[in-house]
Amino acid sequence: MFCPKCGSEYKEGFYKCSDCGTDLIDQLPPEPDNEVSYVELVEIYSTYRQSDIAFIKSVLDGEGITYFFEGESSIMLVAGGAYARLLVKAEEADRAKEILRELGFL
Ligand SMILES: [Zn+2]
Repeated sequence: MFCPKCGSEYKEGFYKCSDCGTDLIDQLPPEPDNEVSYVELVEIYSTYRQSDIAFIKSVLDGEGITYFFEGESSIMLVAGGAYARLLVKAEEADRAKEILRELGFL
């Protein structure tokens, strides 16, 4: 038996915590998960145009959407003709796509 309040362990047959008077429980509830949960990101758009990146960022900021531009370094884009990939949280992907569609990006 455990006290849910102070965590003390008691033998079978005890029903109240002698320290705080709280009713004992069989099992302590699982520890709250304090670790930063892994966020799944999905790619919804890619562009090599800095102006598009800046614009999309300002719109997504305004919409409160969490996003990440992968490889947006201008040096990389110019040098390799590489694309910056727009990643958003999986649960916000549909909304982000909708916004980009309205803006004519998709
Ligand atoms: Zn207690």
